[in-house]
Amino acid sequence: MITPTPDLDLLVIGAGSGGVAASRRAALLGARVAIAEGRRVGGTCVLRGCVPKKLLMYAAEAADDLEAARAFGWDMADARFDMARWATAKAAETSRLEQVYRRMLADAHVELIEGRARLEGPGRVRIGDRVVTAREVIIATGSSPVRDSIPGVADAATSDELLDLQRLPAQATVVGGGYIAVEFASMLARFGVPVELRYRDRLPLRGFDPLLRTAAAEELAAAGVALHPGGAPASVQRKPDGWMLTLADGRSLHTPWLLNATGRRPNTVGLGLDTVGITVDTSHAIPVDAHGHTAAPGVHAIGDVTNRVNLTPVAIAEGRALADTLFGAGGRAVDLSRVASAVFMLPPIGSVGPTEDLLASSDRPIRVYEAAFRPMKQAFAGGTQRTRMKLLVDDASDQVLAVHMIGADAPEIVQSLAVALTAGATKADFDRTLAVHPTAAEEFVLMREPARRLTAAAVS
Ligand code: NDP
Repeated sequence: MITPTPDLDLLVIGAGSGGVAASRRAALLGARVAIAEGRRVGGTCVLRGCVPKKLLMYAAEAADDLEAARAFGWDMADARFDMARWATAKAAETSRLEQVYRRMLADAHVELIEGRARLEGPGRVRIGDRVVTAREVIIATGSSPVRDSIPGVADAATSDELLDLQRLPAQATVVGGGYIAVEFASMLARFGVPVELRYRDRLPLRGFDPLLRTAAAEELAAAGVALHPGGAPASVQRKPDGWMLTLADGRSLHTPWLLNATGRRPNTVGLGLDTVGITVDTSHAIPVDAHGHTAAPGVHAIGDVTNRVNLTPVAIAEGRALADTLFGAGGRAVDLSRVASAVFMLPPIGSVGPTEDLLASSDRPIRVYEAAFRPMKQAFAGGTQRTRMKLLVDDASDQVLAVHMIGADAPEIVQSLAVALTAGATKADFDRTLAVHPTAAEEFVLMREPARRLTAAAVS
């Protein structure tokens, strides 16, 4: 029997950052590639996440800049933020970026097939009325906000809806303590919206270094956000004039506007995974090995849909590495052991490497270096924001294992230092690096005495 040649070498499902990167790399390597997309091209990061979020952060940051400008001698009439104007400009920018993505696909000779894709068996995918066959399939369908984390929360706004608002709410209650919760609480406060932040833990940003978690709580409080640790609602109920929250102790509270920031979930429903024998895990993610291969031959997955490290640059790196494995010299797995990340609250956070708690639970001796100061701009303008920095150094090898920072430009600074860490820089390398003065980043090369040492004895 002659097996018919498949229509394609590769079909990618989902034209977000990861899927587009995988498809372009595969096409560059000579594969016949198509990409299926059921919504707009660009995915969460470009259309509903990182990009519009950062554009809103710039708008919020302008509130701090305007305040500082007065201290620096500028005379200004009262300024007012117009959300509708921002929304129009944001829509124009995301549309422009969508066109850029479409052009990139066309230039790479990747066929865009518009419609929702569903697997119909090994190497067979239906997209609308069309059925295509492909030697390899990469699932890159991303994730969506969780809408069933709390009874009654399904209709509450998520980051998707917030980024499409035409008018700011009179007051906002944000539920959750992760990236999205603190970023948007911080921004809404800059726009003058009274914000309540309700989260389960003692501090926001579970999983981050304790220095950053404590500082984030302090900076949010200083910006006027009312913090409610242990104050997440047990259930919520929609009312004609907003929402009724029922707390764990039975108390009821009213809020005109509720933001559900309780996490995201992989988009795996309706993909026909059962037709190729894939079973999702308890977090609804597609299980994959280090290369992105699923248990089904010829079916692979990258990015948020695999729920490993849910960040855009990771999805892009996974997509390219997988395309290399399938169509190039191959064999490369993405190293997820040291992924830098940022939280774009104000002031922002940048972080790479393990937290102090995590290292404290290992038995390797660690030196902890810290700096905390009011940066020059804040000091001059009478601001209260402080910059905090931490280096975690392996005592035996002198290797710098982690850099944590909260303060102006932290993501930009930590991105550069991440290169040094990837190269295996030691504390001695930091020490012999001359400072750029006057900057905040120079503190990273001027930390001489450890604030404390974590010894195996102290840990046990
Ligand atoms: P996160 O996973 O960061 O945080 C989810 C938050 O929701 C946690 O604080 C969690 O609390 C809380 N939560 C979960 N269930 C409940 C519940 N039933 N009741 C109350 N609280 C609950 O998710 P986000 O939605 O903030 O972001 C999703 C992902 O998107 C992030 O993990 C990140 O990978 C990515 N992202 C990255 C950004 C960046 O790079 N700057 C920005 C935005 C998102 P607890 O800690 O107690 O479990």
